[in-house]
Amino acid sequence: MKTTGRAAVYPGSFDPITLGHLDIIRRTSKLYDEITIVIAASPDKQALFSIEERIAMIQAEVADCKNCKVAAHPGLTVEYAKRIGAQVIIRGLRAVVDFEYEVSMANVNRKLAPEIETVLFLAGPEFDFISSRVVKEVARHRGSLEGLVSPAVAKAVQLKFA
Ligand code: ADP
Repeated sequence: MKTTGRAAVYPGSFDPITLGHLDIIRRTSKLYDEITIVIAASPDKQALFSIEERIAMIQAEVADCKNCKVAAHPGLTVEYAKRIGAQVIIRGLRAVVDFEYEVSMANVNRKLAPEIETVLFLAGPEFDFISSRVVKEVARHRGSLEGLVSPAVAKAVQLKFA
């Protein structure tokens, strides 16, 4: 599955995918020929949704994006990027707290694969408080998920806490 043109990967846990993630995907899919959303599955991370559930959920969310693909990869993101011929790793930046982590990740990835660039996109102001963790926390306490995730994702999350 070698991609052509300017390809990027957008790795993350996406547990679940939020409106903040979708904003990054919508914006970056206009800048690159192909975006592969990669569920960076780490088996030691306690997740609400299985990899299969997350793949199906993300596929439904990006169904109208012609150049978006969804995949899961348990190993290093740079290895996956190299395998599909992607030159760019997309990450999102919300607040200052994201900055330190994202810079260290970008530097590690640069060390592992200097030919791949990490590009950080600023979260849209209307989404910069949204995280998958917050979504789960609100759902746990039966709060409304409107404005945080899509209605379909909200339903799936609420089912987990029912
Ligand atoms: P990870 O566990 O790898 O941080 P996440 O699913 O939490 O995975 O996030 C994936 C990427 O998307 C990260 O770069 C994160 O900073 C970014 N991101 C998460 N939420 C938002 C948001 N609301 N707006 C913009 N970017 C976001």
